[in-house]
Amino acid sequence: MTNQKLLEPAWIEIDIKQFKKNIGIIRKHIQNSLFCLPIKANAYGHGLVPIAQAAVEAGVDYFGVARLQEGIQLRTAGIRKPILILGALDEVQIPELLHYELELSIASLYKAKLVAKQCERMGQRCRVHVEIETGMQRTGVRPATGIELLNYLYTTPCFEVVGIYSHFATAEDPYDEGTQHQITVFNQFTSEIKSKISNVIYHLSNSGGVCYYPQANLNMVRPGILTFGYFPYLLPETLNGIEPFLSVKAKIAYFKVVAKNHGISYGHSYKTNANARIVTIPVGYGDGYRRALSNKGEVLIRGRRYPIVGMICMDQFMVNIEQDEAYVGEEAILIGKQNNAEIRLTELAKLCDTIPYEILCGFNDRLPRYYINSGLDKG
Ligand SMILES: *Cc1c(COP(=O)(O)O)cnc(C)c1O
Repeated sequence: MTNQKLLEPAWIEIDIKQFKKNIGIIRKHIQNSLFCLPIKANAYGHGLVPIAQAAVEAGVDYFGVARLQEGIQLRTAGIRKPILILGALDEVQIPELLHYELELSIASLYKAKLVAKQCERMGQRCRVHVEIETGMQRTGVRPATGIELLNYLYTTPCFEVVGIYSHFATAEDPYDEGTQHQITVFNQFTSEIKSKISNVIYHLSNSGGVCYYPQANLNMVRPGILTFGYFPYLLPETLNGIEPFLSVKAKIAYFKVVAKNHGISYGHSYKTNANARIVTIPVGYGDGYRRALSNKGEVLIRGRRYPIVGMICMDQFMVNIEQDEAYVGEEAILIGKQNNAEIRLTELAKLCDTIPYEILCGFNDRLPRYYINSGLDKG
């Protein structure tokens, strides 16, 4: 295969080998627990289907998505693993949920009854996970009413209870009483019902949980951002080697010399204070590269950092390379490594006053995604 990326002015590069390595490291760390990979929001911006396919090859057991549509996309692409829809679902979507053999999160008796009506009408069973509220206060049935909900689900033939779970609110803090409390509440609830039911997957941990609260691994874990190579704080030693594997790259589209005292880009928020060599990078906020990085962010060219000058436009932005050299067509790194230098997404997230998740999800399809080291390419 030729190096396709050379055909595009800007692209996202995704290193499948590092992705699989991350999965392997987490797999070892969680021992016998099942590995559910949350791949909502286009696999955290990495591309839903290629990431799911690589994850299956690397031995992931389960997938978590937010929307029905994401589940359907995975099934249509031939993914056979169990897929749990963690987000909201309208009951009119139930026929599709059943058709594509997707699993549903249930957190109230009210919703359960609406779903039951649809399932009975279709004469089909629905696989569900019951979400227990333990401290997130987002969705989830309170433990006190959880028993009643479970009773209903177990006595209504159209339901198959596959899992019982909850979600951490503050587990990215390694020494957090709130998380400890959530674990306690969840364990109390499950210990009350464990003797009465069997064959249920108990799951609780997100990335923070997997990093810092191994006692919460239970039957299955759901680390999202960690699998994509980002982690909340410091990594425990057993997770060493986990790295991000997404880079954003572009070819320098234009070169010019700008004399002293000239404003650059919309609003002239930056003015040259000397003769400067300015290059134009063909990426903008229309691709998901955040406008908040205007006059703050940096890019790598020839292994050196250079500042973004002026406002980032929808499709391009400018970089001041001072008196250095760079030619049109040369590679600029917006996120990732070049020679010995690196620009990390976490650093950009800080500059944007946000978290890596939000920037990742913001990359849309205008930047083509190229998957390298997938075992299929030769380059
Ligand atoms: C998104 C999500 C996760 C993954 O969270 P990370 O912080 O990326 O590990 C796990 N569980 C649920 C219910 C989620 O919505």
